Formats: sequence, structure tokens, C-alpha cells
Amino acid sequence: MTPAPTGRPPVLCYHRVGGSLELGVTRVRRSVFHRQMTALAKGGWRTLTLAEFAHRLEPNGPSVPGRGQGRGPRSFLLSFDDGYASLARDAYPILADLGFTAVTFLVTDFVGRDNAWDVRYTWHPLRHIEWDAITHWQSRGFEFASHSASHARLTWLTDSERAAELERSRETLVRRLGAAAGRAVAYPFGARDARVEAAARTAGYELGFGGVRGNGSLLNLSRVPVYAWDAGDVPLGLRNDALGSVGRLVAHVANCCAVGTSVMKGVRYRVSGIRDQRPAPDT
Ligand SMILES: [Zn+2]
Repeated sequence: MTPAPTGRPPVLCYHRVGGSLELGVTRVRRSVFHRQMTALAKGGWRTLTLAEFAHRLEPNGPSVPGRGQGRGPRSFLLSFDDGYASLARDAYPILADLGFTAVTFLVTDFVGRDNAWDVRYTWHPLRHIEWDAITHWQSRGFEFASHSASHARLTWLTDSERAAELERSRETLVRRLGAAAGRAVAYPFGARDARVEAAARTAGYELGFGGVRGNGSLLNLSRVPVYAWDAGDVPLGLRNDALGSVGRLVAHVANCCAVGTSVMKGVRYRVSGIRDQRPAPDT
């Protein structure tokens, strides 16, 4: 069983909400997302900002109930990875209506562009959210942070490539959105090790989010992904019962299996002779 982390607010990670169907498992239907968020709001859950979340991690920070703990308000950090354009249509308005907020981890080289960094699970390439939409939702209290520059698996890069991925992404976010946007990073595929954590720290990040299992470090915080099968009213990552434990274990295994897409992408590059499909750096 995957143990429930103690004393720290739970963190949920969604990828796509709504939009076109896909062959993969990371898309959650808009109706499911709407039902889950509404149920959480009615159940007394509230979302944290990154600053509130970080405050809770401090040794003497406030203790507010998280998953299945006590009565009164329960709080969690809601996050989205990859920053697809459909979030602005199918997720953010639902959250705003409920008084919820979220942090979206952006692949900064691909903002406003089509997804060219992943194996294709959809018939048409997926569009990433535009800067104009990002600044609009930022003004409404939504937060944005780093998911690296090009969604590279950071554990597979050289030291200089890894530093460049983390630094370029952070520099873009801070320049476009202000200093607070340079505070956190979610490692693509949840792939991290001590070198990744060290590089993130050197680049200036204070918080780093990995996979389902963290190690207690602020640069290896755990999150539970919400996959397509996680369609109950309360996502498995927020349940403190046996089902929640099983759900977190399954999410951990599924997250580990995502290494397959990186391998397939590597094979495609080698076959096609294309090493780097990265678009021109943002200016
Ligand atoms: Zn991602």
C-alpha cells in the first residue's frame, strides 16, 4: 500500500479536462471534473494557494485538516500539469464559480503552441494555453509555475541540459508573470533524483513536485495524479480509506509506466534522426 503522507495537505494533479478524446489515461471528462469539484466544495474542502501550501509545510505552520482528518475545513492544493488550452474553457470557470483556485504547471517553450513533446494520444495535436489567457486567469487568482521548458525527462539529461531546462523555464515565467511564478516546479513524468532536486534548487525554485511518493524534501513533494478511471465524487488522492490507499498505489504504478512514452519518443527521435524538436526560445 502507498502510505498516506502525514501532516501535509494533499496535492491533486490533473492533466487534461474536457477537450477531444484520447487514447491515453490522463483526460478527465468535464462533467466528471465538475461533479468532483462541486462535491469537494459541498464537503467542506477548500483549495490552497501555493503560498498557503508552503506555509503549511513550515515546521511551525498552521495545522489545518487535510485528507479525512477532523472536522471543519479541509484543504488541498489543486494542480494541473502541461497547461492545455482547454483548461481555460473547461476547468478554470468551474473552479472560479466555486471559489476554488489552482496552480498550473506550464511547459514554457510550448505556451500557445501545439504539443510536439509527447507521443500523440489524440487525432489532432493538443494546443497549449496562450499567454493572454494565462495573464487573464492569473488576474483572477489562479497561479502558474514551471513544468520545465520542453517537458524533458530531467533524470535523463546531462547536468548542463538539466540546468538549462529548469533555468530557461523559470526565467520565462518570472519575466512574464512575476517573481511568484518562479517559485515552484513540477518535474515532467514526476521523474526526479538528487541531481534534479539540486538543479532545481540552484535554478531558484523553492518547491518541487514529483510523483506519488515524496521524500520529505521541499523539492520532492508528493502529488496524486487523477486519471480517467478516478471518476468518483472524491478523487482517490483525497480519500483516507482503503480505496484511497489502493488508488494512490495504482496512480504510482501508472506514473511509473509513463516511462514508456519517453522511451517511445526516444526511439522516434533515433529513427527519424531528429534529436531536438524544440521550438525557437520564447523572446
Ligand atoms: Zn507533464
